[in-house]
Amino acid sequence: MSDHSPRTAPPVTDVVHQGTPHATWCTHCKAWTGVAGTAVLLGTDGVTVLGTWSGCSICTEEDPRAC
Ligand SMILES: [Zn+2]
Repeated sequence: MSDHSPRTAPPVTDVVHQGTPHATWCTHCKAWTGVAGTAVLLGTDGVTVLGTWSGCSICTEEDPRAC
């Protein structure tokens, strides 16, 4: 294959990365069952911090309204 088409950079699309989740204290479960992380947006201008997110894998499964 002798394709002389110019090599173009792959299209850059903004990607949201949820970051590395870490354990947090859940006041509802009274245990380290919560998870939280920092969501970032990987865009063409660099990394933009969107904010933090958190949840609990225990009480959110039983009743989402509990927390
Ligand atoms: Zn919980």
